[in-house]
Amino acid sequence: MLNSIPSLARLTVELGRFPGVGRKTAARLAFHVLQQSEVEAQALVAAITDVKAKVGYCSCCFHVTEQDPCPLCQSVDRDDTLLCVVEQPQDLMAIERGHSYRGRYHVLHGVLSPLDGVGPDDLKFDALIERVQQGTFAEIIVATNFSIEGEATALYLSRILQPLSVKVTRLAHGIPMGSDLEYVDEATVGRAIEARRDI
Ligand code: ZN
Repeated sequence: MLNSIPSLARLTVELGRFPGVGRKTAARLAFHVLQQSEVEAQALVAAITDVKAKVGYCSCCFHVTEQDPCPLCQSVDRDDTLLCVVEQPQDLMAIERGHSYRGRYHVLHGVLSPLDGVGPDDLKFDALIERVQQGTFAEIIVATNFSIEGEATALYLSRILQPLSVKVTRLAHGIPMGSDLEYVDEATVGRAIEARRDI
């Protein structure tokens, strides 16, 4: 059907490249763009162009930023003895939303995944080791996800960081706030028992 309207078909194909957007959703979004005013459609084009032109990666922590080093690396209010290692910029943002961490960050941009051909050289490990070797950090908090790859990456990190005489810690597994124990999966309950602490 869309083949008879090549420009609309092209927009649908482009929108369909977004993660989680299937063919039907892509077509719905394309029709939505068609119904937008010229001003709204141009604002979308400008926002995409702008983000591609202005946003890059911090040369220190590899977070996304419009200035290098990023505001988090430049801030004088952060604790220079703590370094939190995350998989992706979105994970860093999630920890920042928690408002309880005041140290520095390092973004790996992925996790070790031999099946997908991702090895240590594909992640920001060398830069991490260089930062740790500079000697200001006393503790490295490994905040990779609790997936098989995230756990394997955490283990690998602890092995390469421990010789540098820093404390290496892992985020605790927990019961989500507001949830009933009865409905939490057994693996999470088991890990939460292991990671219990004094109150
Ligand atoms: Zn930075």
